[in-house]
Amino acid sequence: MLTPLERVNNLLSDLRIAPVDFDAVFAGKNSLSPLECIELFLLEEQRLRILKQNLLRRKRANLPAEKALNSFDFGFQRSVSKEQMLRLSDMTWVEQAYNICFLGPPGVGKTHLALSLVVQGLDLGYSVAFESLNNLMTILKTAEISGSSKRRLEYLRKAALIVVDEVGFMPLTPGEANLFFSFVSAMAEKTSLIITSNKGFDEWADFLGDATITTAILDRLIHHCEIINMTGNSYRLEHHQSITGDS
Ligand code: ADP
Ligand code: MG
Repeated sequence: MLTPLERVNNLLSDLRIAPVDFDAVFAGKNSLSPLECIELFLLEEQRLRILKQNLLRRKRANLPAEKALNSFDFGFQRSVSKEQMLRLSDMTWVEQAYNICFLGPPGVGKTHLALSLVVQGLDLGYSVAFESLNNLMTILKTAEISGSSKRRLEYLRKAALIVVDEVGFMPLTPGEANLFFSFVSAMAEKTSLIITSNKGFDEWADFLGDATITTAILDRLIHHCEIINMTGNSYRLEHHQSITGDS
């Protein structure tokens, strides 16, 4: 037969609640009133729920990696300044549904900087999501027939900030270009988008296939937007590591 104290301690450990020093809680003239005890436990329950929600938000964000500004070498990539990125990492632009476009050739750090900003968004409590354009197309095309695509789209609609990565890698069919337009349109003024693209805006018609739809997409995207043009060499190519350590 367990004592009440043992039962309480077992419950605490089952619920993964930090151990409580009951002697300190109940002994002496500073002991807590029953109401204060209840408050203490509710506070702990609240802390655990927030922790759980944060873990869930991180999982749903679906980030391919967690990157940070402090691991970005601004000496190597000189077309964007650390000050500019630090200013953006206050995330106030998300409140105004502003967008950010990182444009530039492969390997210059577009995805790294996009990820640093969404990680910051996560830490500040925003719901964020990461999709490659390819993935986003699959979700949009299969939302009617696939439960997981439907759920993901519902999540994207409610997110505060979405990264659409690798825009321009693949040509879109006219149907896909229309879906992309509808998506950008639906997000405008409501959800912030971070777009990364290896193509300058003047080349977007090439992969979107149509000048009118390109203008319509860019019109919505650029209306409230920070455009960051990145140049330079690929960090990947210059810092590549071989299995044997030679490079
Ligand atoms: P892009 O999206 O422009 O093709 P990435 O952001 O994916 O390039 O960068 C490629 C790899 O190089 C990633 O692992 C990224 O963390 C790293 N990287 C790129 N630029 C820098 C930089 N200036 N400092 C540190 N790491 C970088
Ligand atoms: Mg990239």
